[in-house]
Amino acid sequence: MYNPNKATQHIRDFHAELTDLRRDIHANPEHAYKETRTAALVAERLRAFGVDEVHTGIGTTGVVGVIRGARPGKRAVGLRADMDCLAMTEQTRLPYASRHAGYMHACGHDGHTTMALGAARYLAATRNFAGTVYCVFQPAEEGQAGARAMIEDGLFERFPIDAFYALHNAPWVPYGQMAVRNGAMMAAADRIEIIVEGKAGHGGMPQFVADPILAASHVITAIQSIASRNVDPADTAVVSICAIEAGNMNASNVIPPRVRMVGTVRTYRTDTRTLVAERLAAIVANTAAAFDAVGKAEFVEGYPATVNTPREASLAAEVGRGIFGAENVLTELFPNTGGEDFAFFLQQVPGAYIWIGQGTDTSCPLHHPGYDFDDRVIPNGAGLLAAIAERELAAE
Ligand SMILES: [Zn+2]
Ligand SMILES: [Zn+2]
Repeated sequence: MYNPNKATQHIRDFHAELTDLRRDIHANPEHAYKETRTAALVAERLRAFGVDEVHTGIGTTGVVGVIRGARPGKRAVGLRADMDCLAMTEQTRLPYASRHAGYMHACGHDGHTTMALGAARYLAATRNFAGTVYCVFQPAEEGQAGARAMIEDGLFERFPIDAFYALHNAPWVPYGQMAVRNGAMMAAADRIEIIVEGKAGHGGMPQFVADPILAASHVITAIQSIASRNVDPADTAVVSICAIEAGNMNASNVIPPRVRMVGTVRTYRTDTRTLVAERLAAIVANTAAAFDAVGKAEFVEGYPATVNTPREASLAAEVGRGIFGAENVLTELFPNTGGEDFAFFLQQVPGAYIWIGQGTDTSCPLHHPGYDFDDRVIPNGAGLLAAIAERELAAE
């Protein structure tokens, strides 16, 4: 009989060991595609837990642990953890703070890796399911598409996953709660590069120049009309210019020849993503032309939107209600405008991405130098992943 609480209760028995493991990973952060120590540690633990197979080196440093249920079954569930850190300097002064200068686990991927290992340990010990669980540890979630690297390295051919789940700690969701929704959880995160080219000259004699700074200023204002005038009001888009480069701060009387700008675009729907890219190109070119300048916008695709499938989102919520109580499973949330590499997996197979609450102290949010994963969350997240796998594979 499937009991959603069994996994969480069982994993509490080795909470202390998992906490030590999490802090060890925290002290030894590794950046995109260089997660060699972490991957070796993951593989070593998976073997120690008695999983059936351990595969390493997938998409450079990715690891997959294969656990077969006590009962035969055709279905397979994937549980994803990310292993990489961020290139930033930790300022927590914790005893287990980063030992690698300039690198830090500021997004809690040390916690995610630990929770997936906790789930693997429980599932390998109990095997109370029919079918296969694939524990997938991916490299390079932070901006470098480690998920796509694993797919390109044959992840789904080698490990045919029918439903894929991942969770991320959420410092804005209270401890003891989780949040999941059907449809978009995270946005597509794309980069824009804009160049406005004019004609340089004397700052005091503008009649002889084509001022790219004035043209670029109008471009910046005009592209804000994409979200307010072009995108359906029921949908959402963010267009942000985040850096501008032009002129010389020591030359206050020289109009420069060009302005370079970079920024980010966030959308949830593929058609909206295309619309924003098209409108950007047109508005940049035409606005610049109105000022005798030449404007070009380049749209560089990053991560697609992370879109949960209905069956898997409701299954995750149902399992969560069994563990945390109905009032502690939030499903009426807005999608988040961050980007997430798990999106590539969800483009290929059904699944759900879940926020696991770790408190409402917002003084040190994700990617803050003072951030630390909350170890109290370990049995919650590990138990949730394991219970989802058991629920998915209970039927056969
Ligand atoms: Zn992050
Ligand atoms: Zn993250």
